[in-house]
Amino acid sequence: MNYRKILVEYGKKLLNRGLVAGTSGNLSIRGEDSDTFYITPSGMDYLETREEDIVKINSKGEPYDASKKPSSEYRLHLEIYKNYPNYNAIVHTHSPFATAFAVSRKNIPLILIEMKPFLGGEVEVAPFYDAGSVEVSKSVIPYLKDANTCLMANHGVVCCGIDMTSAFLSAEYVEDAAKIYYYSLNIGDPKIIG
Ligand SMILES: [Zn+2]
Repeated sequence: MNYRKILVEYGKKLLNRGLVAGTSGNLSIRGEDSDTFYITPSGMDYLETREEDIVKINSKGEPYDASKKPSSEYRLHLEIYKNYPNYNAIVHTHSPFATAFAVSRKNIPLILIEMKPFLGGEVEVAPFYDAGSVEVSKSVIPYLKDANTCLMANHGVVCCGIDMTSAFLSAEYVEDAAKIYYYSLNIGDPKIIG
């Protein structure tokens, strides 16, 4: 499987679907063995990222090619892979509606039937720590057991899946659910189904 090609393609999709702004967010895939992961590079425009720019790292976050710099949030990805062998791909976005709930530190309750199969149910907010820190990477772990998606306080969204297609779909559905819940809150009295 060409992991680099998948990450380049999905990076463009992240931008085109409005799930990230600028160079924010990042994507990764668990590689061919237990000590290999592929992740988008640090601070590079998604439209300019080529396959050779994707960074292959080991489980400590060290790049196989020392001239490459992985996303500054690589610890978040590695901690999730370490704790959850069932997840093989991670999509981290700063998508606006979902991130607005993360800023208000409010969960997105189960309001749409799609949330159950695609997100695992209600989407909760993990506590705030500095971006890229060891603490923030550990903070999301308990929230990804029953759901494959959680919000990161004052930061963004993390979605996990068995593959990139599935993780990306979760990133789209959590943004959709956040948007609809936001509108419903404005109309008033949203009903929760779970
Ligand atoms: Zn981020």
